[in-house]
Amino acid sequence: MKKISIVGAGRVGEATAQFIAKEDLCKNLMLIDIREGIPQGVALDIQETAPLLGFDTKVTGHHQAQGVENSDLVIITAGLPRKEGMSRSDVLQTNIKIIDEVVDSIVKYAPNAMVLLVSNPIDTLTYEAFVLSGFDRNRIFGQAGVLDSARMASFIAMETGLSVKDIHAMVLGGHGDSMVPMTRYTTISGISIDNFMDPKTVSDIIERTRNGGAEILSLRKNSSAYDAPGAAITEMVEAIVHDRKRVMPTVAILDGEYGHSQMAMGVPCVLGSKGVERIIELSLNDLEQQMFDESVIAIRRDIDSLRD
Ligand code: NAD
Repeated sequence: MKKISIVGAGRVGEATAQFIAKEDLCKNLMLIDIREGIPQGVALDIQETAPLLGFDTKVTGHHQAQGVENSDLVIITAGLPRKEGMSRSDVLQTNIKIIDEVVDSIVKYAPNAMVLLVSNPIDTLTYEAFVLSGFDRNRIFGQAGVLDSARMASFIAMETGLSVKDIHAMVLGGHGDSMVPMTRYTTISGISIDNFMDPKTVSDIIERTRNGGAEILSLRKNSSAYDAPGAAITEMVEAIVHDRKRVMPTVAILDGEYGHSQMAMGVPCVLGSKGVERIIELSLNDLEQQMFDESVIAIRRDIDSLRD
């Protein structure tokens, strides 16, 4: 990929830039932020790790929207993170204005780019960005489930003492509070997790995953998570850059899939050079369907609140 831009050089933007540069996933990596000096400083700091980490990516910063010009992929990490005690929806009214501005600049300066959203509330903002941009749905999508699944896999590894390399967790639905854990598809080397943990332990892990972001926030006090989010975003970018056709939980625009339309939601997708190349429809059991529908209601409420 020639150029990847990250709009929002805050904590998540910076961590993501470092991971992407280290993996040498593009020739030019641009960091953009409205705070003058910050994106340039962050970019220079990361650029100076190149001789140590051995990457050739050129990292630069810009404090104006046209920094996204001619990007192949734009990652949006601009926006207010929630504070302790707040839900992701509490930052919606502020973040929608930021997303409006950023999407406008992408349409103007990088009309052929793919767009990967990260800012919260991710499901609602991804749908709004899709509507505002008029882009095809394969090239506008969001990150949530890769992080939630990684959190769940980490907790399973901590509980069982087994290698994370063999643990595959699958989380669908809305991000965090309204996620839908797919324990049927969560395995250790293909073996169902029920063979390793009793139902109470599994349900505790699900609850901890649901509150994964809040747990970090309550420990760090003045910062939400950024390392694991940065790694999750990079995993998706890697799949796209190398056209891997990986199956990853992705916030995708639904058009009838899972019985829903005109919204974005975490569902398993094939990620490759065209972005979301396919949405995989799983048949849900009664409990999963109930959680999925609850997740839809929560996201729909946020989307509708923007139309009030
Ligand atoms: P942060 O405050 O550290 O950084 C946000 C940055 O956005 C700031 O530097 C700010 O100046 C910049 N910004 C604001 N308006 C802008 C604009 N119009 N153009 C360019 N830059 C602009 O916050 P953070 O911790 O990096 O979190 C960023 C967002 O990512 C939050 O909304 C947070 O909730 C979200 N997040 C999502 C996930 C996920 O899994 N989807 C995980 C972690 C954080």
